[in-house]
Amino acid sequence: MLVDVHAHIDFSHFDQDRDEVIKRAEKEKILIVTSGMGSGGMKRTLELAERYENIFATLGVSPTEFDEREIEDCINLIRDNRDKIIGIGEVGLDYYWVKESEKRKHEMKNFKRFIELSNELDLPLVVHSRDAEEDVIKMLRDFDTGAILHCFGGSVKLAEEAVMSGSLISIPTSVVYSKQKQEMVREIPLKDLVLETDAPFLAPVPRTRNEPINLKLSVQKIADIKGVDIAVVEDTTTENAKRFFNLV
Ligand SMILES: [Zn+2]
Repeated sequence: MLVDVHAHIDFSHFDQDRDEVIKRAEKEKILIVTSGMGSGGMKRTLELAERYENIFATLGVSPTEFDEREIEDCINLIRDNRDKIIGIGEVGLDYYWVKESEKRKHEMKNFKRFIELSNELDLPLVVHSRDAEEDVIKMLRDFDTGAILHCFGGSVKLAEEAVMSGSLISIPTSVVYSKQKQEMVREIPLKDLVLETDAPFLAPVPRTRNEPINLKLSVQKIADIKGVDIAVVEDTTTENAKRFFNLV
């Protein structure tokens, strides 16, 4: 069994063949944690989790969302569906798209609300950070909160700091070609890693659509890098994900 800890199965990229994509994953014993973004995405994602045995939902809001009304709607949806979801995310900080310091402060304020919500509802966090890794790790540390750091783009040193404060580093399928991700795999112990596709993005072949069965390619690549059997990669990352999300 494998766990794809972060994907977006509700996205329109899957409108033509969503059922087949999910069943292909199910056949390979892959559990999918799909992330519903914004109030519309949240509703679609809750439906998917209800409908399919191998789909679990996390609900989040893009860090670049500043519409207060939408953010409040999203917070209410998370509260109302507390028992139907396994985590909050993705939420976080994005400094790639947001350059103005005022707006970055606003992002931090919103991220803080979701960290507090995760503590209050006792739901783990899946965190997005783009060019904002230091601030993300500092904020998680301030709140004494561990998280899954999805598609972590920071340095190995920052990743080491994050795992010391209880976070897990999520390795995307782009590890097949990305030197930065390969270095992360080399340096961070397997006990601190989980796997994701971020489907439809970050495919093992650039500019193609990604889907959960591609996790198998990550497993092979990580086994090669670590010099261990693929079963070790499968079992360890699956255990890590299940423990993190309290999946039995
Ligand atoms: Zn994502």
